[in-house]
Amino acid sequence: RKFVFVTGGVMSGLGKGITAASTGRLLANAGFDVTAVKIDPYLNVDAGTMNPYQHGEVYVLKDGGEVDLDLGNYERFLGTDMTSDHNVTTGKVYKQVIEKERAGDYLGKTVQIIPHVTDDIKRRVREAAEGSDVCIVEVGGTVGDIEGMPYLEALRQFAHEEDDGDILFTHVTLVPYSKNGEQKTKPTQHSVKELRSIGLQPDILVGRSTNKLDPDTREKIALFCDVPTDAVFSNPDVEDIYHVPLMVEEEGLDEYVMERLDLTSEALPREER
Ligand code: ADP
Repeated sequence: RKFVFVTGGVMSGLGKGITAASTGRLLANAGFDVTAVKIDPYLNVDAGTMNPYQHGEVYVLKDGGEVDLDLGNYERFLGTDMTSDHNVTTGKVYKQVIEKERAGDYLGKTVQIIPHVTDDIKRRVREAAEGSDVCIVEVGGTVGDIEGMPYLEALRQFAHEEDDGDILFTHVTLVPYSKNGEQKTKPTQHSVKELRSIGLQPDILVGRSTNKLDPDTREKIALFCDVPTDAVFSNPDVEDIYHVPLMVEEEGLDEYVMERLDLTSEALPREER
């Protein structure tokens, strides 16, 4: 089984969820069974108790699970139904770990973030991915947030435990413009530095910007973030978010992901579909 982990840098509300869902859509188009997991590093057990003005609509799944609206994007983009197991929250993880501790399941051990919380996170991701060819795992929030740390550590361990070539890290960052109209890569460089400091090296970078990334910008990001230029993609502003999969397909994101994950599509080539 293959996994694509999607993290975000610089700021939230960037389009990380849409980028992740678009990657999933393209892999589904190529004939793979794709599912998704959304990680929400908040302490609420689910989104049911949250003010919709803060995080948007509470999305209700078929099993009655009240979840983050990103799951709605995944269901619509992927055309699949998901269950509440596909939304991992800190509330759910801690609740489970504390209940196990009270039941004596840890046999007297000191219960800690590493390994007990990280093990529970990895278990949830693996279970949600069962039955799929590819699982897209989006980590909510921004790299560097205290709340997100146990998840990034869990994903680092996860990548270490799985075979090389089965895991891909995609990092979505903001590429702003300076006053003189230049695309600036410094925020991207800083967030990749932050990722690396916790042992994660992104394989793919997606720059959210008003327009497509200039060739110079792509080269600069590639150089500073230590990825091939082919691994740097644009996600410019669009009127309709359902155009995002088409846009990243044009840039070859699907082909790059399949090549890196050694996935051979049995689907008809794009032109013949
Ligand atoms: P994140 O997961 O980074 O918080 P989301 O994927 O939820 O971000 O997107 C945040 C907002 O930006 C949403 O309202 C989404 O529709 C919008 N958005 C995402 N990508 C684009 C894009 N390429 N163009 C315009 N709006 C976008």
